[in-house]
Amino acid sequence: MDDRQLVILLNQMTLEEKIAQLQQLAANFYEGAESGGQITGPMEAMGMTDQMIESSGSVLGLAGAEQVIAVQKAHLRKNRLGIPLLMMADIVHGFKTIFPVPLAIGCSWDLEEAERSAAVAAKEAAVSGVHVTYAPMADLVRDPRWGRVMESTGEDPHLNSLFARAFVRGFQGSDLAGDKDRVAACIKHFAAYGLSEAGRDYNTVDLSERHMREYYLPAYRAALDEGCEMVMTSFNTIDGIPASGNVKLLRELLREEWGFDGILISDWGAVKELIPHGVAEDEAEAALKAIRAGVDIEMMTACYVHQLPALVRDGLVDEKLIDESVLRILKLKQKLGLFENPYRAADPEAEREVVFCEEHRTAARELAVKSSVLLKNDGVLPLSRDQKVALIGPFARSGDILGPWSWTGSMEDAVKLETAMTARVGADHITVAEGSGIETMTEEQWQEAEAAALAADVIVLALGESSEMSGEAGSRADIRLPEAQRELLLRLKALDKPIAVVLFNGRPLDLGGVYETADAILEAWFPGSEGGAAITSLLYGDENPSGRLSMSFPVSVGQIPVYYNHFNTGRPVDSPDADGRYVSQYLDIPNEPLLPFGYGLSYTTFTYSEPVVSSGIMSKDQPLQVSVTVTNTGTVAGQDIVQLYIRDISGEVVRPVKELKDFAKVSLLPGESSEIHFTLTEEQLRYHHSDLSFVSDPGQFQLFVGPNSRDVKSHSFRLEKAAVENIR
Ligand code: BGC
Repeated sequence: MDDRQLVILLNQMTLEEKIAQLQQLAANFYEGAESGGQITGPMEAMGMTDQMIESSGSVLGLAGAEQVIAVQKAHLRKNRLGIPLLMMADIVHGFKTIFPVPLAIGCSWDLEEAERSAAVAAKEAAVSGVHVTYAPMADLVRDPRWGRVMESTGEDPHLNSLFARAFVRGFQGSDLAGDKDRVAACIKHFAAYGLSEAGRDYNTVDLSERHMREYYLPAYRAALDEGCEMVMTSFNTIDGIPASGNVKLLRELLREEWGFDGILISDWGAVKELIPHGVAEDEAEAALKAIRAGVDIEMMTACYVHQLPALVRDGLVDEKLIDESVLRILKLKQKLGLFENPYRAADPEAEREVVFCEEHRTAARELAVKSSVLLKNDGVLPLSRDQKVALIGPFARSGDILGPWSWTGSMEDAVKLETAMTARVGADHITVAEGSGIETMTEEQWQEAEAAALAADVIVLALGESSEMSGEAGSRADIRLPEAQRELLLRLKALDKPIAVVLFNGRPLDLGGVYETADAILEAWFPGSEGGAAITSLLYGDENPSGRLSMSFPVSVGQIPVYYNHFNTGRPVDSPDADGRYVSQYLDIPNEPLLPFGYGLSYTTFTYSEPVVSSGIMSKDQPLQVSVTVTNTGTVAGQDIVQLYIRDISGEVVRPVKELKDFAKVSLLPGESSEIHFTLTEEQLRYHHSDLSFVSDPGQFQLFVGPNSRDVKSHSFRLEKAAVENIR
């Protein structure tokens, strides 16, 4: 079908049929699809008539080739014009083969692996009948109380932008139309959802436009520059107006300024939520505001189908707006080839071969290895094969290591830590005991754990959060490990055996007490289907930890938000004022996070030379060449992530104390050195000025190179940048 035929098709549609294309159905509407489809659940509650359902445009949350084919068939039998459904679903970090959660992937700093994970997810999802995934999430996050930080790649706009691009490339490939192994991506949640006040999900967001453009928008924009097909609105307000009815944000910025002409979908129920938010009196006003703002598809509520026909007839909504939305939807169907083959890649036989295949599991394992971050090590790790290990803790045997948004995966199929460690060193070297549940400990559990610990040389203590404790609606005000698990750690500590803690969780935790008590801590996040295998290879030193935090770990919840790229106040922090007071500090805790952005240990050590810079002066046409020599000074091979930061000393507006500009992964054998080169251009120094222009400032800058955002001092120098041409 070509563009002209699409317009002909549009012209054949009644107003009601057009509006029904803007309605998304929920998967359970189609229960019993094999026999023609049954109205059940939410759609029925929404008062959708048969006619509305038959003319609908898309379905949420259906996967599985057989079922998808049956549903599409049933739909096409009924749809008057033979317009196929778009099948959309949340394929966030894997389909059947579950990869680490996105925050973990962020800690890999590995864009190729991230792309590969999305390509694998796309392939498994596509063959199972999915056309569009609601991913990636590009919300910048600074508040670990918010449960959805696990869906983000972290706190840095540059790193997030690179990951957003990598995920889009992986999902969509370079030829979405021709490559049936790919799915369309939908960047979410537009915009600034990650700034939900106090980390409470769905809460108010209020920030200046400049700040939003500077930190929160770049990653969504990067995804669109990469060709991302769809955008999803966010639940939060922006400057008092919910995103899903926000004309300034959606129509003016996204559509007009950025030129986005793909499908914009509301988040789940977000159109109708304009009513409880308090900007619409009823469904009609909600529909009016959303369509005017530019929302094409309504997800999970039915204001459009019920209200838009009358709004158009009464002249309140121009039918042209409806036509534009319908055309966008038809165009994606056309691009995916659904008019010719409404099943696209859905194929039950191929599905059995492709999903959870060995190749995909290997990719998941490799990424889980690269995503884990060694937070502390007093020499307990790596373990040696002949040590007797007590594997204790609620995650020792648990399959709850996939993390939120893994509804298509199977916890049973996940490689558990116990299984992998036993396979690695033999059952005679491992004793396993739960020790506690996630939130409770019984005396029996403790006694079993104690016995195991006493008979062992070393304790591996697998602690963490269940997957319900993060993710959507998974905000926590106290982000410590649950008390029962802290108690378990303290009791074991009293037995005087070395303890290596492995953490399974979806957010940076408040590790107060735990950090001091454990002898080693390996942050495994939710590592996915191959988690146990990946962690085992790290624990025994078959692999060397190389992950680096993409989100800071606070000293305590009272510091939040704490992030590396903050501003200075006008008051001294590290030296006392004239009265001898450190006035810009907390009285009771330090200002600095426990573990900063970019941080992570290895089983080897690296040293950095002083950076060598090509010139003291950068101009528009003359970038700086920066090089640094990194040496592996330890006894095993390892990888480090060499990070380049800058600081604009005197900006037109206050600039962050550090901003990540580039990084490079380096693999070194013991004793080996490598010279790492960066090119720093004037373009990388630009930022949003008070008039929102995106330009650089002439003047002084500083440049930092180091293994994380904190330990850069000895590798940093001051760069005079007196001759930068300001290109306003
Ligand atoms: C979430 C989205 C998700 C959608 C569909 C919403 O509640 O906020 O991220 O894509 O549900 O499942």
